[in-house]
Amino acid sequence: MTSQASTRPHDNPVTVIGLGPMGLALAGALLRNGHPTTVWNRTPGKARDIVARGARLAGSVADAVAAGALTVVCLKDYATLYEVLDTAGGASAGRTLVNLNSGTPNEAHAAASWAAGRGVAYLDGAVMVPPPLVGDPGSVFLFSGPREVFDTHRAALTSLGDPRYLGSDPGLAVLHNAALLGLMYATMSGFLHATALVGSAGVRAAEFADLAVNRFLPTVVDATLVEQAPDLDAGHYPGELGTLHMNLNALEHITLTCEEQGVHTGQPRLMREIAAQAIEDGHGGSNYLAVFEVFRKAAPGAR
Ligand code: NAP
Repeated sequence: MTSQASTRPHDNPVTVIGLGPMGLALAGALLRNGHPTTVWNRTPGKARDIVARGARLAGSVADAVAAGALTVVCLKDYATLYEVLDTAGGASAGRTLVNLNSGTPNEAHAAASWAAGRGVAYLDGAVMVPPPLVGDPGSVFLFSGPREVFDTHRAALTSLGDPRYLGSDPGLAVLHNAALLGLMYATMSGFLHATALVGSAGVRAAEFADLAVNRFLPTVVDATLVEQAPDLDAGHYPGELGTLHMNLNALEHITLTCEEQGVHTGQPRLMREIAAQAIEDGHGGSNYLAVFEVFRKAAPGAR
């Protein structure tokens, strides 16, 4: 059935299983783009509004997946995926599941094996936007798994946003999801900590945000990282413009300033510890990007 998907939305029915905030947003985007949309949810009452907008509520998971070639699943986690889809018996065989719940690469690999054992074509995926942005053409969705499955359903997936295919390893989508969310949390925490630090002297967040986000970040951090990313691949960290020793000094000053101002020191102490480790590993004369070596060579089992 994977080779028969039409690119015309009206001929291309899609099922959505799971109607949490994200599943409802996915079903809404599919409907807006003209796909006949079938939905199923453990709590059927959550389908009321989407049914009023034109979706069909299936009476069972088997009925839902039988509605078309493509089922998009957006449940809480992988355990829930198995719990729900196993009630469909053989109804999923010969069809495609695109799974958009969050998880880990090992969980994605296990899900791909689970699907293969049932004759189901499987793509793993990750939604990189909050529900209100689903359906926006610029909203990034990540997918990994068999290329032909992605290509077959690309048109329907484009109704959700900007679908990016990452490769045949099914774990790649959730791996990128974890990496990007880690970047998001580190960046937000960095901003919040910095705002708390200047706030200790009465500086308002709104005032600091303009300096930090509009002025400092784009010129100092973004440009530097994009320019130097090839050096990370090459393991090349020239220290002529500033060494890790110099950066350790800066991290020490940040930590001491936090202590003086009565602000939490956990974040700068962690960065100081990582930089000190890189120096201990012999990178003291390199630039700050040499901490990449500490990150990527954690001891087995290190947390
Ligand atoms: P969620 O609370 O993570 O998941 C809710 C869905 O899971 C509902 O359909 C719920 O059914 C179902 N569910 C939970 N336990 C179940 C069980 N034992 N049996 C059957 N169904 C069960 O809500 P969500 O925000 O829509 O997120 C869904 C997935 O998308 C998650 O993996 C999340 O990490 C990911 N995601 C969410 C966002 C976001 O901003 N919301 C963004 C990116 C990715 P009931 O309605 O019956 O409870």
